[in-house]
Amino acid sequence: MSKFWSAVVGGLTPYVPGEQPKISNLIKLNTNENPFPPSPKVLAAIQAELGDDAARLRLYPDPNADLLKAAVAKRHGVTAQHVFIGNGSDEVLAHVFMALLKHEAPILFPDITYSFYPVYCGLYGIDYRTVPLADDFSINPDDFHGQPEKSAKNEIGGIIFPNPNAPTGRLLALDAIEQILKANPDVVVVVDEAYVDFGGETAITLVDRYDNLLVIHTLSKSRSLAGLRVGFAVGHPALIEALERVKNSFNSYPLDRLAIVGAVAAMEDEVYFEQCCRAVIATRDTLTADLRSLGFEVLPSAANFIFARHPQRDAAELAKALRDKSIIVRHFKLPRIDQFLRITVGTDTECQALTQTLQGILA
Ligand SMILES: *Cc1c(COP(=O)(O)O)cnc(C)c1O
Repeated sequence: MSKFWSAVVGGLTPYVPGEQPKISNLIKLNTNENPFPPSPKVLAAIQAELGDDAARLRLYPDPNADLLKAAVAKRHGVTAQHVFIGNGSDEVLAHVFMALLKHEAPILFPDITYSFYPVYCGLYGIDYRTVPLADDFSINPDDFHGQPEKSAKNEIGGIIFPNPNAPTGRLLALDAIEQILKANPDVVVVVDEAYVDFGGETAITLVDRYDNLLVIHTLSKSRSLAGLRVGFAVGHPALIEALERVKNSFNSYPLDRLAIVGAVAAMEDEVYFEQCCRAVIATRDTLTADLRSLGFEVLPSAANFIFARHPQRDAAELAKALRDKSIIVRHFKLPRIDQFLRITVGTDTECQALTQTLQGILA
């Protein structure tokens, strides 16, 4: 606290991102980065943008990132008016909380979910209610609705959840998402598809039929570009316009020149993208089987991470023992999940090292 702080700042509870250690030779399986480099076409596009003397960096980038909007629209079969671009999907999400989740009634999200959602609620003064996941950590679509029959106080201001959910990795089927959309026609339903490319089916195909649906994607996970900071939203043009209004009241140039051309190249290299996703999925399946044979319970994952617990071993102690052997995984000291480890799917070699190290720790 300082006398110079605004009252708002004193009351914030900021998000704590996974550790980015400064030491090398670690096997880093804690923040769901892709183990493969981005498409070589990304580097080529960035180098071309820089040219020989980088003189173009003198000039502001396109405030609307039109080239990238076009590339996203083409890939997902929508128009550019359906696309909003942001500096990482976290920034897109921040604008969504400001612009599209009503501040007059509590919003809903699962009790176990991306821990940034309550942080945005704190930042914007939005009230929320958490909806408990089932015992098997799946989302029950019947639980996501307001209760208008009771009283006005039971109305909700919106709904948000990741699909696949984080940190569980569990996938909700598209028909269940449609059920939630139909039950809540008067509020925006946000589906955060950060991990959908690793085995899910995108809800973007529903955008034409539901004007209350907003789907969020990131290039950080499946396109290996966490360091470039690019995310986008797809939804009805009226929803996109709300996001543009907030963006243009905050920062006209959220993406720099290099990020725009790099992201376009990444979106256009479908072959490389699919190859990487297939490799991650194959490694995930092997890792799941290997951990199960060591006695772990592993939730079914449609993401590039798995969520696992060992019935006899404390998760925090396992995480520490792994760290002592230079392998970092994520442990959340939170109700219901404090006995789980969230393990990012690395390369085959990294995952084999993890399995062997765990075998030693458990022995
Ligand atoms: C990683 C992640 C994000 C943030 O992605 P960035 O684009 O890197 O900001 C958003 N939502 C979920 C559920 C994530 O796991």
